[in-house]
Amino acid sequence: MRTLHMIALAAATATFNVAVAQPVQQTVNDWRDAFRQLEDEDWPSPNRERRATGAPGPDYWQQQVDYDIDIRLDEEAKHLFGTETVTYTNNAPDTLDFLWFLLDQNRFRPDSIAVMTETVGGGGRASGRVGESMPEGISARSMRRRQMLDEDGYGFNITGVTDANGAPMDFTIVDTLLRLDLDTDLETGDSVTFTIEWDYRLVETQVIGGRAGWECFEETEDTGADCIYQIAQWFPRAAVFSDYEGWHNKAFLGRGEFGLEFGDYDVSIRVPQDFIVSATGVLQNADEVLTEPQRERLEEARTADEPVFIVTPAEARANERRGTRSMATWEFRAENVRDFAWAGSRKFIWDAVGVEQDGEGDAPDLVMAMSFYPNESEPLWSTFSTRAVEHTLAVYNDFAFPYPYPVAQSIAGPQGGMEYPMITFNGGSYGRPMVDDDGNLSYSLGSKRGLIGVIIHEIGHIYFPMVVNTDERQWTWMDEGVNSFLQFQAERQWEENYPVRRGDPHSITSYMASTNQMPIMTQSDSILQFGPNAYSKPTIALVVLRETVLGRELFDEAFRAYSERWRFRRPTPYDFFRTMEEVSGVDLDWFWRGWFYSTDHVDISLDRVIEGTFDTEDPGIENMRAREQAAREPESLTQVSNREAGVALYADSNPEVLDFYSENDRHTVTNREREAYESMREGLEDWEADILDSGDRVYYLDFTNEGGVVMPIILEFTFADGSTEMVRIPAEVWRYNPRNVTWTYVSDRQVVSVELDPLWETADADRTDNYYPPRIEPTRLELYRSSSNPSSMMDDLDLRVTRDSVATRPE
Ligand SMILES: [Zn+2]
Repeated sequence: MRTLHMIALAAATATFNVAVAQPVQQTVNDWRDAFRQLEDEDWPSPNRERRATGAPGPDYWQQQVDYDIDIRLDEEAKHLFGTETVTYTNNAPDTLDFLWFLLDQNRFRPDSIAVMTETVGGGGRASGRVGESMPEGISARSMRRRQMLDEDGYGFNITGVTDANGAPMDFTIVDTLLRLDLDTDLETGDSVTFTIEWDYRLVETQVIGGRAGWECFEETEDTGADCIYQIAQWFPRAAVFSDYEGWHNKAFLGRGEFGLEFGDYDVSIRVPQDFIVSATGVLQNADEVLTEPQRERLEEARTADEPVFIVTPAEARANERRGTRSMATWEFRAENVRDFAWAGSRKFIWDAVGVEQDGEGDAPDLVMAMSFYPNESEPLWSTFSTRAVEHTLAVYNDFAFPYPYPVAQSIAGPQGGMEYPMITFNGGSYGRPMVDDDGNLSYSLGSKRGLIGVIIHEIGHIYFPMVVNTDERQWTWMDEGVNSFLQFQAERQWEENYPVRRGDPHSITSYMASTNQMPIMTQSDSILQFGPNAYSKPTIALVVLRETVLGRELFDEAFRAYSERWRFRRPTPYDFFRTMEEVSGVDLDWFWRGWFYSTDHVDISLDRVIEGTFDTEDPGIENMRAREQAAREPESLTQVSNREAGVALYADSNPEVLDFYSENDRHTVTNREREAYESMREGLEDWEADILDSGDRVYYLDFTNEGGVVMPIILEFTFADGSTEMVRIPAEVWRYNPRNVTWTYVSDRQVVSVELDPLWETADADRTDNYYPPRIEPTRLELYRSSSNPSSMMDDLDLRVTRDSVATRPE
């Protein structure tokens, strides 16, 4: 008895808040160490270009490609003609005898890999057509697209490539790539200059798709039948040559966007004279293409408190009415950008405001936030667009680094959301209000939310991946996921209770628990359920990492280090993972493995809670407790029934058989018990006696990891006195057994209930097993009424059936 007692005490002191590992079945494929390191497993060995710390190494290099481009828009033919002079500087330790370029417009050629491999139900939807069902229809728009792709002759015409002396150079086109053969090898540190002439037909964005093109509007009383041109992925661009992959010559299939090299751009854009043009870079010839009032307003906007119209809605309307055939050339210069895009239209209203920032290093102190949009987008755009740009800069500057460019622009047009350096295409049709039959305007909450959300998102992309130069053609999550995470932060800082679509952990649970999905670490073009995979899940992974795993201070410091280390450089996923661990000081391999390398989901079940109290061995206390315990048990049912039935007891008529034990139960304290207790107390150390007298209770909590992802266990205890306490158990609690653990909790307050993940912060997919004791779950049921007289064809035709004849017509 005494021995047992002391073992219980020792166990209680040694296991305070210590997990008890359940036995593990070590059979093949049954147990995996969720905490093993990813180094040498999924992560490449560090080298002199990329360090194990996640930072660029001492030999880090990247190519520099500068462009001087002249282009002309043929408005009638919707055709673009360009001449580009490229200066390619080889900073790689390799000698190059050819260069690869991206010809993204070739994805619209009917014989391209992109067009030839289109499958039904592709485009990121969960699955293709189910094999056994017959196709039931095809949309007219989809047919029109197929016809246009077959007949209209999209894709680049490369009309000449010449070296610096004007001599023709050899080139080969492979789907969406162009290989340019160099006459002399390009050694490390050397540059080569050459000129490419090209032209291509612009696509109608809403029919053909893609990230650029044109949209023409129907003429109304207010507005003309004019068009908006959004021009992107529009010139032969040097493909990436990197330390980890060599040439990134992967064909453009339409989804995985692109990686590119940094360089300086001088671009001359020749358009109809009444166009307003917005582009990557700073306008160099404002005095030639802007009116004097426009230039004055632009100057005024620099120091204004709110957006100022450079072109007013009325001026844009008048502009559309005029139309002209004469041309003007807008000249832009952009430094240290990885791409160049532009937009032009005579429909554009233009507003702008100067945004001040702490311009450390090469970042400017003042950024011009600007928007360009047609009257059809009013009043949404003048209310929200430039403001959303301004807000995005503030939030992203906080998380990453000061915005490094002098302008940040938001353009309305056919493209629903796409980013390029300093310029973004936003909104598509959902940034436009609805007009009812009486001409009244209204817009939905969805329109407002969609517009603000997409502007934050696309402006955010100017940081990721336009400055932190990730390769979306390989890893979509690195820009879409990281950027959507920051978008969520900006939306949460926009207005109270802003209806954010993705970012709060509970919004990802049904996707994570679904089948037919892939790990986040999947090549872009192969991803199923593209939105949840590449946007929502990595967003929420980072939210969980920040709010739950690392805490804001450690996360923000590590994330800022990643942003600064890789600003104007090209990080891989491993550089991100490593930086987050190295700077925070927290091992996160288990987190990357669960969230980025697996399709497991989060679902922890709180199976059982057991309350332990100490056996004091004081017979005065314990015997009374035992008696009370016995009293709680029901009386023998047979004894009760006998009494009720008046069954006579032998002792009633023979009281001489009643003795000491008839008066005193087995819980009566004896002298021997009392002496044993006193001698036990004398043998105790003071600290042992203190524990015994503390009144503490030990709770044993059993957990099962149903979902597979190991996660911290977050508990809220509610006590008998009504008070509560939150306890956060690190994920390492699962290290001996990633499936089942028992964890102990000690309190001098009596626990009445426990809730797992009470703030819904871990994306736990099944909350019904998160309560102890369990709760009755509410749900709303739809009441179905089955049809009381199901009709048959016979019934419908009024045919009658008799026992003798199967079917007869009524007479
Ligand atoms: Zn995006």
